[in-house]
Amino acid sequence: MPSERPELSHAAGLELAAIRDRGLWRQLREIESSQGPSVRLGGRETLLFCSNNYLGLADHPEVIAAAQEATARFGASSVSSRLVSGHMTPHAELEAQLAAWKDCEAALVFSTGFQANLGVLATLLGPEDLVVSDALNHASIIDGCRLSRARIEIFRHSDVSHLEQILARHAPGARRVLVATESVFSMDGDCAPLREIVPVAKRHGAWLMVDEAHAVGVFGKTGAGLVHELGLTDAVDVQIGTLGKALGSFGAYVAGSRPLIELLVNRARSFIFTTGLPPAAAAAAGAAIALCQREPERAAGLRSRVRELGASLRAAGLDVPHVESQILPVMIGEADRAVRAAELLLERGLYVAAIREPTVAPGTARLRLSVMASLSQEQLDRLVKTLPACVSEVMSR
Ligand SMILES: *Cc1c(COP(=O)(O)O)cnc(C)c1O
Repeated sequence: MPSERPELSHAAGLELAAIRDRGLWRQLREIESSQGPSVRLGGRETLLFCSNNYLGLADHPEVIAAAQEATARFGASSVSSRLVSGHMTPHAELEAQLAAWKDCEAALVFSTGFQANLGVLATLLGPEDLVVSDALNHASIIDGCRLSRARIEIFRHSDVSHLEQILARHAPGARRVLVATESVFSMDGDCAPLREIVPVAKRHGAWLMVDEAHAVGVFGKTGAGLVHELGLTDAVDVQIGTLGKALGSFGAYVAGSRPLIELLVNRARSFIFTTGLPPAAAAAAGAAIALCQREPERAAGLRSRVRELGASLRAAGLDVPHVESQILPVMIGEADRAVRAAELLLERGLYVAAIREPTVAPGTARLRLSVMASLSQEQLDRLVKTLPACVSEVMSR
C-alpha cells in the first residue's frame, strides 16, 4: 500500500475543514416533540417553519391511531422484501386506495421517494435511451438518471421551448425517451408548466414522469396532486409521490398503468432488494389520504394563507417570489448570510431552514419557509414581524 494514503479520519477531517471554510457546514438539530407548529428544540419552545408536515397530519389523532392499530395487529415491521413475505394487508389496502384516489389503474408503494425515483428511472431506461430532466429536479431524480445509464440532457428550469429544442435534437436517435419533472419544486415552491409540457412530450414520443412529492395532499380537489388537479392523469405516464411529507407518514408511491406497476415489481431493484414499508407507515398513510378526501378544506385553507403570507413578506421588503404552493423561498444570495439569518431567527424562537449549495445553485442561498396548515394566524404574524429585521441585519454586513 502506498504510504501517502491518508487514514480515513484524517481524510474526512480535511474535507470537513473545507466544508466549514465555505460556509456549507451541516448539522443535525434534535426536535424533542412531535412536528406540531411549535416544537421543543434545545429545551425551548420554537415555532416550526421548515417541516413538510404541511397539513398537520403527522400528529393528527386519526393518523396516529391508524399506526398504533396496524402495529398491534401486524407487528412493528414487514421484516422482508415485499416479494418474499413482506407484502402485507396494509400494503395491499394502501395501494388500492392510492390507485382509486389518483384515478390510475394501479399503484406501488416503495420504502422511500428516493428509492422510487431510482427504481423507476433505472427500470424504464437504459444506455440507448434519453432522459430529459428539469434543471431543478430533486437529487433522487438526478441520481436515478445517472443510475439508468441513459443519455442525460437537462432543460432550463420549466423552460418548455428549451425542452422542445432538446427533444427535437436528441429524441430521434433514442430507443426510449423520458421527460422528468417535479410538479411543485421543492426549493422554489413554483409549479411546473405541465399543461405545456404534456403536448411537447407527446409530439416527440416521450414518456412523462412527474414527481409530486410536494404537491400530493396539498394540490387537487381531494389532495391527489397537481396532475390530478389539472386533469392530466391520462397524459402523465408515471406519477411519483412521497408518503412522508403532507401525508405525515413514511414511504412513497408510484402510480400509473398496470403494466408499469407490474414491470416495477419485476425489475425495480430499489423495490425488490429492500424491506417493505412497516405496517404502521402504510396504515398511517391510508388514514391521511382518507382525511384529505374527507376534509379538503385543510389544504385549500393552507394555500390561501400562504398567498397572504407571501404578500405580507413582500410588503415588508423581502425578495419572495410569487408561488402557488406552501413553499415560500426568501431569497438571500450568499450561503453564509442565509445561515446567519437562520441563526438569528432561531435565537428569536423561529426555526427556518437555510438552503444553500449543493441543494440550490451557488449564489441563490435562501431561507425556505414551509408553511403548515396547523400554524395559527398569531404564529404567522410573529414570523412576519421577526423575519424582515433578521434578513436586513445579515444583508447590511
Ligand atoms: C423529498 C423528495 C423526495 C424523496 O422522498 P422521500 O420519501 O423523503 O425519500 C423525492 N422527490 C422530491 C421532489 C422530494 O422533494
